[in-house]
Amino acid sequence: MQIIKTIQDIQNQIFILKKEGKKIGFAPTMGALHEGHISLIRQSRRENDVTVCSIFVNPTQFNDPKDFEKYPITLESDMQKLIAAKCDILFLPSVAEMYPTGLKNHKPLDFGFLAETLEGEWRPGHFAGMAQIVEKLLLAVTPDRLYMGQKDYQQAMICTDLIRQRKLKTRLILCPIKREKDGLAMSSRNVRLDKKSRAKAVELSKLLRSLKASIRRQPTVDGRRIAEAEQRVYDKLTSFPEFKVEYVAIRNAKTLKPVKTLSDTTPLVALVAAWIGGVRLIDNMLLR
Ligand code: AMP
Repeated sequence: MQIIKTIQDIQNQIFILKKEGKKIGFAPTMGALHEGHISLIRQSRRENDVTVCSIFVNPTQFNDPKDFEKYPITLESDMQKLIAAKCDILFLPSVAEMYPTGLKNHKPLDFGFLAETLEGEWRPGHFAGMAQIVEKLLLAVTPDRLYMGQKDYQQAMICTDLIRQRKLKTRLILCPIKREKDGLAMSSRNVRLDKKSRAKAVELSKLLRSLKASIRRQPTVDGRRIAEAEQRVYDKLTSFPEFKVEYVAIRNAKTLKPVKTLSDTTPLVALVAAWIGGVRLIDNMLLR
């Protein structure tokens, strides 16, 4: 695996590869890699000639400085995992390389409602910082395909819009959520869960699964039923004293708008965010 640390070097390397007709797949990450990240690498390898992974803990997307300080850094084992997965190139830039003139966002994009709701409401500034770094990374790597996880559903939707607004020549491929055996969505933050919180954290995915089953059982679902189902999950989750719930939402999976009236073909996604044992977890599930 080739390790590249500067934008100039990655651009030169990609230029050569593209001249040879190679298709480039790219999975940006913040490291502390787990099977979820590696599944993106595998999918990229199946669909492209060259796979690039970046590891960059982006300071501008942490709305909580403590979360940034505590973010796990495991570079040695990350590199071992990437080598084992046959990743071709690791892009490993420094903060100074990505933000040579400082962290200020000079021309933030406007994602409207998409970035204001759910995570946008609870983590102000997060999406502006995320979009800022993803754009810089896309301009450096110029991939044919960008691999992102459904785990961060809203993030992927915003990146699709970023690609559209900036007219970038890359296609976002949304990859399924990798879960632990008991159903907990894999996350770099899971290592910070103590034993009791880890055991309880499984309730998030359990509730999403039973919600999906209950929606599927109903021959027709209207807006009122959706609101009731949302409330039921919220009440159940808040009934566990271990959880501090931020949101439970059932939304239109294409727009993230609340569903009031819906046709049989409206795609639905349920999304949750909650704290447990000092760790903020998110999860989501497509309902239909
Ligand atoms: P992160 O390092 O948390 O910024 O995540 C980097 C990429 O990996 C993002 O596209 C995430 O959505 C994706 N990812 C994180 N966790 C998972 C998971 N459990 N399954 C699939 N993809 C994931």
